[in-house]
Amino acid sequence: MKVVVIGSGVVGVTTAYHLSKAGHEVTVVDRREGPGLETSFANAGQVSVSYASPWAAPNVPVNILRWMLQRHAPLVLRPKLDLAMWRWLLSMLGECRAARYRVNKERLLRLARYSQTCLARVRAETGVTYDQQSRGMLQLFRDERSFRHARAETKELTRANIVCRVVDWDEVLRIEPGLRHTHARVAGGVHFPVDETGDAYLFTRALATIAEQNGVVFRYGTTVRALPTDASRVSHLLTDRGTISADTYIVAAGSYSPLLLRPLGVRLPVYPVKGYSATFPLTDTDAGPTSTLTDERYKVAITRLGNRLRAAGIAEVSGYGIELSAARLRALDYVVGDLFPRAADMKSAVYWTGLRPMTPDNVPILGPTPYRNLYLNTGHGTLGWTLSNGSARVLADLLTGRTPEVDLTGLTLARYGQ
Ligand SMILES: Cc1cc2nc3c(=O)[nH]c(=O)nc-3n(C[C@H](O)[C@H](O)[C@H](O)COP(=O)(O)OP(=O)(O)OC[C@H]3O[C@@H](n4cnc5c(N)ncnc54)[C@H](O)[C@@H]3O)c2cc1C
Repeated sequence: MKVVVIGSGVVGVTTAYHLSKAGHEVTVVDRREGPGLETSFANAGQVSVSYASPWAAPNVPVNILRWMLQRHAPLVLRPKLDLAMWRWLLSMLGECRAARYRVNKERLLRLARYSQTCLARVRAETGVTYDQQSRGMLQLFRDERSFRHARAETKELTRANIVCRVVDWDEVLRIEPGLRHTHARVAGGVHFPVDETGDAYLFTRALATIAEQNGVVFRYGTTVRALPTDASRVSHLLTDRGTISADTYIVAAGSYSPLLLRPLGVRLPVYPVKGYSATFPLTDTDAGPTSTLTDERYKVAITRLGNRLRAAGIAEVSGYGIELSAARLRALDYVVGDLFPRAADMKSAVYWTGLRPMTPDNVPILGPTPYRNLYLNTGHGTLGWTLSNGSARVLADLLTGRTPEVDLTGLTLARYGQ
């Protein structure tokens, strides 16, 4: 079958790889000059298998008010006269109810675990390297109250078969010895030994090369303008470089997916949530992180990627703009300087921002649409790198007539009544 994938981020490229492995003739179309140049470019690098949690959590409505007063706040709301923004925010608040959170978390975990298996298979099949490590992830708590809360929550995590361990300061130091120089007071942590790390961009670029060797055609520098339809099917793609035809089309255009689909009457509840990262060369590797940790007060992840340290985080709801805000970058610098003051060359930071394609429930949207030959692989929000290989394999299975290996309940557009 001839398949066109719109988007060459980590989601589009993994989709193309799995489809071509299943024997399809695949073309990937992207407006950029190479793969992975938008949101997949410089994320936190966490393959958060056990830590996969929706942002829409029961404590978020209260925290939003608290964060408004906090220096280096993890969430920034910049309200606009934008109906899509308000619709998304209200819907996200609805997903913060405890019962919804539990449902959404189970869906994420189901896909995240499957995705880790698929990533391991891809590594074994291709030998792809991307500064990866399998050394776990540490959640770090600065105050006793949040540490106590996290400690209580681990019981529920254990019931959900998530491998995790509450750790005191001595144990934190055994896991991340570079923290011995920290200026911060740390109450304790929770360690998730199964989680992995790796550079999503290096992975995307390398897998695109492998996919190309397997026959996938990449049409870069090509912007999709419209998806004209013919009754219940997409007839072709209209791009700034002419038309492209296929049997089946997959939208993997990240935050831009809803804009492409709106003219077709398909309403995707995906909204861009801006995040930031700073990447520093490590000057003293012993004084830096060995794997990855998340500072729970600032919601900033700090990850070792080869000889670099990457700090990433912040959720800014402000529309599609991608300008860098000096205040947010200062927040990243502050957290790195506070936790790992001797590790990196702070003056050589490379700053970046990207738009997370967020659904209100933080669960991606996979599979069919009301159009018979149009499929979705989008809305991966905070976890696109973690979920990419599992989502891609699901799409390849659906298009090949195989039953996906993971239950798709709650992962498709059907949950939004479409
Ligand atoms: C600060 C930050 C930290 C993060 N940390 C993590 C993490 O640690 N772990 C994790 O799992 N996830 C993380 N994420 C989330 C993850 O990066 C995203 O979910 C993921 O990159 C989304 O991939 P994508 O392929 O859907 O989108 P993208 O990478 O944005 O790719 C979409 C592609 O579509 C193309 N496109 C769009 N419209 C058109 C059009 N009209 N025509 C042609 N091409 C088009 C774009 O050019 C782009 O290349 C983080 C995100 C941010 C911002």
